[in-house]
Amino acid sequence: MRDTLVLNASFEPLSTVTLNRAVVLVLQDKAVVEQAHPELRMRGAAVDIPAPRVIRLCHYVRVPFRRQAPWSRRGVLVRDRHRCAYCGRRATTVDHVVPRSRGGQDTWLNTVASCAEDNHRKANRTPEQAGMPLLRRPFEPTPADAMLLALGAAEFEALPEWLALDAA
Ligand SMILES: [Zn+2]
Repeated sequence: MRDTLVLNASFEPLSTVTLNRAVVLVLQDKAVVEQAHPELRMRGAAVDIPAPRVIRLCHYVRVPFRRQAPWSRRGVLVRDRHRCAYCGRRATTVDHVVPRSRGGQDTWLNTVASCAEDNHRKANRTPEQAGMPLLRRPFEPTPADAMLLALGAAEFEALPEWLALDAA
C-alpha cells in the first residue's frame, strides 16, 4: 500500500495516510495535491485525478499528537477503524475493557470499539470474566488518527470502494 504524506496548511509534515484517504481529503476539499505520482491516477465513476504523493491541508489543524490526544468515544472508533475488538465486525459503541462499575476509566488504554451486541454481552465484566478475548490491545492513537480526528473526519471509515489505482 502506498502512503501519502500529509502537510499541514503551514507546510509542516503531519503524518501519512493511505492513498484512498488522501484522495478522500482532496475530494472533500480538505486538502490540495502538492505532488502527484507521475504515472499513477486514481480513477472512479466520477473521478480521475493524479495519485497524490503529497497533499496539504487547506486549513491549519492543531494536532495534539505530541503528548496525549484527548480521549473521546469518537476517537476510539476512529482509532479502531470502527471494527469491534471482540469479533471484528462493524462497531458503533465503545466498550470499557475494565468496566466503569469496577473502576475502569475513560482512557485510550481502557477502551475499545465494540459492536452493540458484544458490548451488551460483555456487560459489567472484564474480557477474562466474560470469556471474550480482545483481538488486539488498545493503544494510544497514532499521529494519523489524531490528525483525522482534528480534521473532524468522522466519516473516515466509509472509504469509497470505487477508487482504483491505474497507470496513466
Ligand atoms: Zn463484536
